[in-house]
Amino acid sequence: MTARGFEPTRERPQGRAAPSPPPEGVEKTWGGPASSRERPQGRAAPSPPPEGVEKTWGGPASSREALAAALRAVRPDAYAATRNRLDGAVTGLSPYITHGMLDAAWLLRWLRRRHRLPCGHKLVQELGWRAYFRHVRRWQGDAMLESLHAGPLPDAMYARRLPDDLLRGCTGVPVIDQAVRGLYRDGWLHNHARLWLASYAVHLRKVHWRTGADWMFGHLLDGDLASNHLSWQWVAGTASSKPYLFDAANVAHHAPQSWRSPGSVLDQAREALEALARSPIDVGPGHAGAAAVEIPALLAAPPASSDFASPDPSAVAGRRVWLMHPWCLRRPPPGRLVVAACAEEFHAAWPWSEARWRFVAAPIGRHATLRWHAPAAAIATALRAAAQVETIDDAHLPPAWRAWARPASSGFAEPDRPCASFSAWWKLVQRQAGQGAADGAASRFSP
Ligand SMILES: Cc1cc2nc3c(=O)[nH]c(=O)nc-3n(C[C@H](O)[C@H](O)[C@H](O)COP(=O)(O)OP(=O)(O)OC[C@H]3O[C@@H](n4cnc5c(N)ncnc54)[C@H](O)[C@@H]3O)c2cc1C
Repeated sequence: MTARGFEPTRERPQGRAAPSPPPEGVEKTWGGPASSRERPQGRAAPSPPPEGVEKTWGGPASSREALAAALRAVRPDAYAATRNRLDGAVTGLSPYITHGMLDAAWLLRWLRRRHRLPCGHKLVQELGWRAYFRHVRRWQGDAMLESLHAGPLPDAMYARRLPDDLLRGCTGVPVIDQAVRGLYRDGWLHNHARLWLASYAVHLRKVHWRTGADWMFGHLLDGDLASNHLSWQWVAGTASSKPYLFDAANVAHHAPQSWRSPGSVLDQAREALEALARSPIDVGPGHAGAAAVEIPALLAAPPASSDFASPDPSAVAGRRVWLMHPWCLRRPPPGRLVVAACAEEFHAAWPWSEARWRFVAAPIGRHATLRWHAPAAAIATALRAAAQVETIDDAHLPPAWRAWARPASSGFAEPDRPCASFSAWWKLVQRQAGQGAADGAASRFSP
């Protein structure tokens, strides 16, 4: 990933931010549920990790204040210096961004203004990666769910099922078992941990990238088809020039002691690992390691407690409706009837964890008068009774709803032609924004 500069790290922001007003402007769009003054438990401290995701993201205790604390804790210089380390100064903002509680364009503007970031700053570039993946999805559509080109082995040589030891976090390779535990416990992983997990699954266990990507998507709070599936493809070598491989030394350099994996299959010369990636051999589990963990259930529909019902056209007839959906959980504009909608087909195809349902249900519970879970077409039919429907677009939305949506901005100019690489996209974006050099100081990104 060096070529793509795409290995951020996470440091839970050090310490808790003192209570103070949220950053200027964030209130305008923040749709989160409550008013705790702190970042959710466990997401703020560098260590130990959260005890349970219920304590971190569940219900209306996590909130606008949590977001405000996370924003106040952003330290761009530390980020640039440490983002590859598991305890590095990463922001933890991805669940908020993915679900549209935090507007990506607002964030970019706010970061640049408050911290005077040049457009070549690492943090700006990482947000650029998100925008680039959306750009690829825009041009590729669902084709990005298949291999974009050949990887080290033909697709058919990879398994379409994850091995049980990997699923249960007991491979005997500490870095992998820790990552699986973190994924299930927090619904979040540091970028490096995602890279390591994906690389091990694909190149050493011979799991097809798509199978791994679907699995990880289900357990993430920030699961985004473009960022997730294209990153898996990047690791697999089906969207990049070579497979992403890592070794025990790499882990030792970036991760704490408990993740280190000396003496494991990763403790080999690069050439040997490359040869393994190009052979059909599944290296299998290592020595007996950590105890197997429970796999959190993935739910294809909102939990009963979140009170969704069938669509009812009479409830919206003649009204101005704001359509709230899982990727648009920002505060709705005033004077609208707020209808929250979840499309049955999407969630059946892409079930996600109960923790994520709760994360999504909290702002919905706070803002939406009506909550519908039904086939996309049934929801669209009911909404046609409204005088007006407005929402913000997202590529996850069913086509039937997108006509009502205004475009979401990533904060970067959207090139009018497809770019084959991040660097081509980056150059074009800067040119379109009137930006000459990558490190120009006071640049303008389009809205
Ligand atoms: C295999 C794999 C799967 C991934 N799946 C997802 C996913 O489903 N959803 C998701 O949002 N990100 C995904 N990423 C990208 C990245 O790991 C996460 O965005 C990041 O770890 C989130 O933590 P953060 O908010 O602290 O990021 P920070 O490092 O603080 O970055 C700030 C923001 O920039 C964006 N960003 C940072 N790094 C990347 C990146 N490499 N690619 C794209 N955007 C980035 C995110 O919006 C992030 O919130 C994946 C990466 C890999 C390697």
